[in-house]
This record gives sequence, C-alpha cells and structure tokens, in this order.
Amino acid sequence: MKIIHISDLHIDSAVHADDGREIDRLNALVKEIIRANYPKGTVVVITGDLTNNGMHLHNTKEKNPVYEKVQELKNAGFEVLVIPGNHDYGNGIHPMPNKNKLGQAFKEIFYNDKNATYPRIDTFENTVFIGVDTVLACGILETLSMGKVGKDQINSVKNALNNAKQSNKKTVVYLHYNPFKCKYSLKLNDRDDFINAINGKTDLLLFGHIHVGDTGLNANCNNLIPRAYNAGSSTDTDNKDDWQPSYRVIDLDESASNDRLINFSDIAAIAGQCVAEFAQ
Ligand SMILES: [Zn+2]
Ligand SMILES: [Zn+2]
Repeated sequence: MKIIHISDLHIDSAVHADDGREIDRLNALVKEIIRANYPKGTVVVITGDLTNNGMHLHNTKEKNPVYEKVQELKNAGFEVLVIPGNHDYGNGIHPMPNKNKLGQAFKEIFYNDKNATYPRIDTFENTVFIGVDTVLACGILETLSMGKVGKDQINSVKNALNNAKQSNKKTVVYLHYNPFKCKYSLKLNDRDDFINAINGKTDLLLFGHIHVGDTGLNANCNNLIPRAYNAGSSTDTDNKDDWQPSYRVIDLDESASNDRLINFSDIAAIAGQCVAEFAQ
C-alpha cells in the first residue's frame, strides 16, 4: 500500500501566511497527486497546520478550501487521514482561548464526529494508522508553540501498537510536532516519553511543524524506527528561496530506499501545470 505524506498547508481565508499563494499551491498539489494515478486506496496523511489560523477557517465545512480538497482526494479514490497542528487551534501560539471549541469544530469537519478522540486509529489492509494530537494536552504553562502528547494518549498509543503487533499488522504513527531535537519554542514537551513508547515498535513515523522539508530519515531514533520523515511544508514557502512544493511517497511493502520526495517546480505549480520529477 502506498502512503503519501503532506503537511503544513497553512491555508487562510483572511490573512495570508506567507505570499498568499498557498491555496494555488494546494490546488496544484492535489491536481498533481490525482494526475499521477496512484493505486486506489493509497493513503494520504496530512500532518497538521491545515490552516494558518483555525479561527478563520475551521468554523464550518462550507467555503473551507481544505475540506474541499480532502473531499476531492477521497472522491478520486484516496483514503485521507488528517491530524491537527497548533495553527488549527488558533493562531499557533499558546495559550489559545478557543482551543477546545476549535478542536471540536476540526473533528466535526474532518472526522464527522465532534466527540472523536485521540489517538485516531484507522486500519487499511495490513496497516494500522495511529494519529496523535499534540496540542490538546498542552497546559497554560507550556507557552509559545510547544506541543505535548500527554500521558493518557501515550498509553493509548502503546496499546494500539501492541494490538497491531499481536495481529501481525504494520503501523504508522503520525503527528504534527517534530518529536526529535528542534528549537525550544517549537519542541514537543514530552518527546522523550513519546519516543520511548514508540521506539522499536512502529514501522513508520510521520510529522511536520518545522517547515524545512526534506530531511528524510532522522538519525536521533537509534535506528529503532526504520522510517521517520519530516514533510516540511507542502504549500508554505516561508520565504525560502530554495523552497519547492513537494510530497513524499512511501511504500511499506518495499524497501525504504524506494521512498521518494517528489518535487515539482513552484512556477509550474502555480500555473497548475505540474511536471513531477523524482528527487532524493
Ligand atoms: Zn506549520
Ligand atoms: Zn505547527
């Protein structure tokens, strides 16, 4: 089964995150993914920050371009899994007064269930996908853009991984925050506990949040997580001159050396004429 990983779309209906062309790039990205003719049932995983400010976008499904694009992918035969990032709960900075309300709206829009719980557990073919929220557990003292998994969720992730192992299934854990080393204000507060819970027990770890992109295999996990990928940002340039829109394709039935980051040129993407090319 193929898995496509994208992240940090930062779509905003009111204020643009960067240069205002994130929505053009999202349109081009989805068009490109559909055009590329992946097998039916390919799973698209979006690791958070679907919007730049949840207060502007995550009120309803109506006129919500991210919801529309998710539906477009589903209609084209993809399974689509999303998990919120810090920006889906407000402006991205803690403490966020509307956090719980926006969290519920996000669940209503993307899971069709305002009382859905985390971690999200979905099974497709022989693979269990475990989606971890990294914002709701943050307390008032965890300031700036820090994330947290929380003890309850860590225990649920451990159980889900054990259950999957007992039924001989592969596992994918996906979350917004980078659980490895990164800047203080952007870190996952309980990353050591989280990594201890999943190390050696999952086949694939996917995350975003840090917009630099294509780092691939992360060396900090003692090689006990065979594949750990940072998606960077699929649509937000962060004013980097060398940024390119991209998405990663992974196949757990094949060797990790076949995983690919697919770039397509920024100008072509905006014009909607994407020419995909393989890149390491
Ligand atoms: Zn982001
Ligand atoms: Zn983020």
